[in-house]
Amino acid sequence: MDAKAPITQDVHTIPRKLPEGPINLVGLTREKLRAALIEIGTPEKQAKMRAGQIWQWIYHWGVRDFGEMTNLSKDYRATLAAHFVVALPEVVTRQVSTDGTRKYLVRIAGGHEVEVVYIPETDRGTLCISSQVGCTLTCTFCHTGTQKLVRNLTPAEIVGQILVARDDLGEWPVPGDRNLETRLLSNVVLMGMGEPLYNFENVRDAMNIAMDPEGISLSRRRITLSTSGVVPEIARTADEIGCQLAVSFHATTDEVRDVLVPINKRWNIEALLDALRVYPKASNSERITFEYVMLDGVNDSDADAHRLIELIKGIPAKINLIPFNEWPGAPYKRSSNNRIRAFSDIIYNAGYASPVRKPRGEDIMAACGQLKSATERERKSARQIAQEAGL
Ligand code: SAH
Ligand code: SF4
Repeated sequence: MDAKAPITQDVHTIPRKLPEGPINLVGLTREKLRAALIEIGTPEKQAKMRAGQIWQWIYHWGVRDFGEMTNLSKDYRATLAAHFVVALPEVVTRQVSTDGTRKYLVRIAGGHEVEVVYIPETDRGTLCISSQVGCTLTCTFCHTGTQKLVRNLTPAEIVGQILVARDDLGEWPVPGDRNLETRLLSNVVLMGMGEPLYNFENVRDAMNIAMDPEGISLSRRRITLSTSGVVPEIARTADEIGCQLAVSFHATTDEVRDVLVPINKRWNIEALLDALRVYPKASNSERITFEYVMLDGVNDSDADAHRLIELIKGIPAKINLIPFNEWPGAPYKRSSNNRIRAFSDIIYNAGYASPVRKPRGEDIMAACGQLKSATERERKSARQIAQEAGL
């Protein structure tokens, strides 16, 4: 060894100060996972490879126990177990609808609960996940909007919903059997509780984990993020996530949208459309989904349908019509089937796909906008809801 070599601290053997309590490896980005391994004394030169191995165990094979990570030495596995955990949200209840839809109530730290819904279809299986407990926004037709925000979900809690569902569906591959890569859970929609773009970083990290090709490996075309229209974060979504985008549009005039989706008072229809016009190109995604909840006598006229077509001109779009899911105390009624059909026909004849969302899992209250946590005492009063709706 060169006698003149400077004396350096051997970072490989001196464990640094660790935060209290074991760290959950679920939800860490690859870089954070690597850094966590270095913190417990993993040589820097090896850390990237070790992170990759652990990543595959957690996200590709669905392993939770360090003891099963057989390509790591026994000693190293013991070190990992001493410092880390692989922890998922706890499933409190699981309901299965007569149509196969599954609804999970999962408990996260602090005793909060969020709902996760799995919707099987012939050509796909979609998991609807939540990004927040409650929502700060107050869309007047949305049940979640009647609940005050309790908190943002962490990346672990967001990606954990996918892991929990894959556990329940039993679709982790079996080592050695390459053909068992089934895809019961093929799509993810961020359409559960909360506004994903008000929890941007955590949603981004969780979705980047879900898209990582060495793990859950969902294509970004199979992930749809639904936003009420947080305009500044839309460009960031294109840059940093690149998934499909759905927008809770729901009205064709600012006057009506101000009431239904009050974030419209901050970023109005014009500002929203400007952001949406650049999204498909910026994110290299196909079409934007315009979600449109059908509310009797509020936003469902022929004139609304024609205005909608005018507004979205030039944007690659699909319009998803959602029959309003009524909830106790809701200030609106669902449009009639005839009205929904007439509205859909106008849009379809203008050259846009205009599917009407089929309610799924109705017997277990699994429909969009009906998800809620059990934190009943956080509810706003019926009077407050009516006031916000301008009724
Ligand atoms: N906060 C996000 C995502 C969650 S809501 C957003 O607003 O886009 C998912 C979808 O369900 C949104 O389009 C929302 O407007 C719609 N929705 C909410 N409550 C509903 C209800 N009671 N009936 C039908 N759709 C509803
Ligand atoms: Fe929040 Fe979306 Fe419900 Fe509006 S529709 S209150 S943004 S969850």
